[in-house]
Amino acid sequence: MSASSPILLTPGPLTTALGTREAMLRDWGSWDGEFNRMTRSVCADLLAVAHGQGEYVCVPMQGSGTFSVEAALGTLVPRDGCVLVPSNGAYCARIVKILERMGVAHATLPLGEDEPARAEAIEAAFAREPRITHVAQVHLETSAGLLNPLDEIAAVCARHGKRLIADAMSSFGAVPIDLRGSGIDALVSASGKCLEGVPGMGFVIVRQALLETCARRSPSLALDLHDQWAYMEKTTQWRYTPPTHVVAALRRALDQFVAEGGQPARGARYARNCATLIDGMSALGFVPFLAPAMQSNIIVTFHAPRDPAWRFADLYDAVRAAGYILYPGKLTEVDTFRVGCIGAIDDNDMRGAVAAIGQAVGSLGIKIR
Ligand SMILES: *Cc1c(COP(=O)(O)O)cnc(C)c1O
Repeated sequence: MSASSPILLTPGPLTTALGTREAMLRDWGSWDGEFNRMTRSVCADLLAVAHGQGEYVCVPMQGSGTFSVEAALGTLVPRDGCVLVPSNGAYCARIVKILERMGVAHATLPLGEDEPARAEAIEAAFAREPRITHVAQVHLETSAGLLNPLDEIAAVCARHGKRLIADAMSSFGAVPIDLRGSGIDALVSASGKCLEGVPGMGFVIVRQALLETCARRSPSLALDLHDQWAYMEKTTQWRYTPPTHVVAALRRALDQFVAEGGQPARGARYARNCATLIDGMSALGFVPFLAPAMQSNIIVTFHAPRDPAWRFADLYDAVRAAGYILYPGKLTEVDTFRVGCIGAIDDNDMRGAVAAIGQAVGSLGIKIR
């Protein structure tokens, strides 16, 4: 692996397959039937990943994942709604920021960064704050790598008649999600995470009957999910300039996803990556931040060593020179760093990364324990 094309151990952008990058070696017209059929087939495949055919539609959106989260919240929540945000990390905090900007009422359920959102706690929040109409739930909090129990939360929302918008950005494609009979009203993800495409587009999988009631509600023109969907239904085209190469890369990435065996196979490969990483790092003396029961297979947060010689930037540079890109921590209270397990990489790559980290720590003279 040359230093000019390192392995990204980051949760998007991530390492993509050669075929995915090659799919971007031609240009597409946004009016062209072939391109618009490609968009349609991508959306059909995305819908199938979550078993949403029939009842749900998939609306693609230009931009990074946050653009789609903002589009979903702005389009699906009425101005007089009130959104509960169970909050255990930076992506939950981002949802709160979006709601503040839009002037939408919200209540947060504050949790520790190692504390999953529990259905009982959400039920108690409904009792405390009867104005709550919606729940915005991050499925996999990428800040720590924490998996929230989406099925339980969806069931409690359905029982209480609350709408549920799930940010499944870093879980979609790798963690099982089944929309059939679920309490999930909308699911948001993006091209450049577990689907292993390149970054540049997100998508919202939403109940069609709900989306149909949301015309002219979005406070944003560019992020109006209903308008985007209605225009695409009418014309087959994207409403504004589409990210053509990103769509082509995602088409190829989805072909590879299906060939690999879909979500179960992708989840299993990431589980092997994650187990290899945790075993290797533990042998070096590093301690994961999360208990195994709540640790996802997507990204692992490790405690920083207590040695005063420790500086993440030094480790980053040394490991980068060996061909691997690490990720800084994103927790507010504890000094940590993160290693992603997703992308077109396997357990051999993880063993290589662990070896590079071990060598770097040795040459930097850092005591881990
Ligand atoms: C990546 C991610 C997002 C979107 O972040 P962008 O920087 O806009 O791509 C949102 N939520 C979660 C949980 C994520 O992992």
